[in-house]
Amino acid sequence: MKIALLPGDGIGPEIMAEAVKVLDALDLKLETETAPVGGAAYEAQGHPLPESTLKLAKQADAILFGAVGDWKYDKLERALRPEQAILGLRKHLGLFANFRPAICYPQLTAASSLKPELVAGLDILIIRELTGDIYFGQPRGRRVAVDGHFPGTEEAFDTMRYSKPEIERIAHVAFQTARKRNKRVTSVDKANVLETFQFWKDVVTEVHAQYPDVELDHMYVDNAAMQLVKAPKKFDVVVTGNMFGDILSDAAAMLTGSIGMLPSASLDSNNKGLYEPSHGSAPDIAGQGTANPLATILSAAMMLRYSLQQPQAADRIESAVQQVLGSGLRTPDIWSEGTRKVGTREMGDAVVAALTTKTITKS
Ligand code: NAD
Repeated sequence: MKIALLPGDGIGPEIMAEAVKVLDALDLKLETETAPVGGAAYEAQGHPLPESTLKLAKQADAILFGAVGDWKYDKLERALRPEQAILGLRKHLGLFANFRPAICYPQLTAASSLKPELVAGLDILIIRELTGDIYFGQPRGRRVAVDGHFPGTEEAFDTMRYSKPEIERIAHVAFQTARKRNKRVTSVDKANVLETFQFWKDVVTEVHAQYPDVELDHMYVDNAAMQLVKAPKKFDVVVTGNMFGDILSDAAAMLTGSIGMLPSASLDSNNKGLYEPSHGSAPDIAGQGTANPLATILSAAMMLRYSLQQPQAADRIESAVQQVLGSGLRTPDIWSEGTRKVGTREMGDAVVAALTTKTITKS
């Protein structure tokens, strides 16, 4: 099993080092190779996604990604900005299904912006279609309007579109994933207003006929936003398009307290995937040794589960993280009165120690 490690910028290398420590502690036969990406790759090779990095990502069975970006690259032309590396990887690897779990650990309910009883035990999964919708639809651009409310003035436009196979494949992913969880899928749309999302709803309903054991309901995106902050535990798997998923998954992230806790996965049709924390490169805290490495460590667990078929190893990491939180260790982003503040490295070491303790107890 070969893993491409792409640490990137800002806190990327710091949190990646901790995830690698955890993977090493598992005693699995994992081969890893590191390559530059983002601003680091631009500095070294003049491009945020160099050919050699893309080649490694294509060859590997899975990719573990840190984060990219820094304000200092904001003036570069768009194609050379660090964030383009993620879009490039998604496109070249056909990563169309984005998994964003929102899990609220019982030990962290106080860090959530909602009342503890609303989020305690929360475990939902948002599956966002990642390569279509208004973000990629053509045509798009700026022009002088020939009609509309103000003909003859400047306007901008984008195109929302989904093809049937694009909706079918993400619907299959959602139903198959729900089978491994609580067998409930909520498909989020805006069918009351948008033609694209009436089509989305029809196609999801058609695919559902192949999964009679999974419950399906449909919800408009405005209601979904409301329900996410009113009664988030009602959901199991939420499947939606690129733009709605972008917005809802960030809202769901905040239910859990800190973005520093949230892993994510982006998968292709063969379950090969890119795994990364949901947060960015956090330039404001880079180099201080205070970043929370748990989102990256939990991303490594997702990688073991979804791409490398090592569910037991994934379970071990997730329970080690629970154990560490239970022991009261907290990086500053999740710290609260009565817990012990630790840095990035100490948190990674504690997860490794928890893994090792478990092994000793079992044998
Ligand atoms: P960010 O997620 O990097 O940071 C937002 C806030 O959360 C900051 O205060 C930061 O300190 C904090 N934070 C983030 N991760 C943390 C962690 N692991 N531990 C503790 N605190 C953490 O978002 P931003 O500030 O909007 O963006 C910074 C840079 O990251 C930008 O260049 C942006 O384009 C890039 N970005 C990259 C990705 C990615 O690589 N996938 C995603 C989002 C943003």
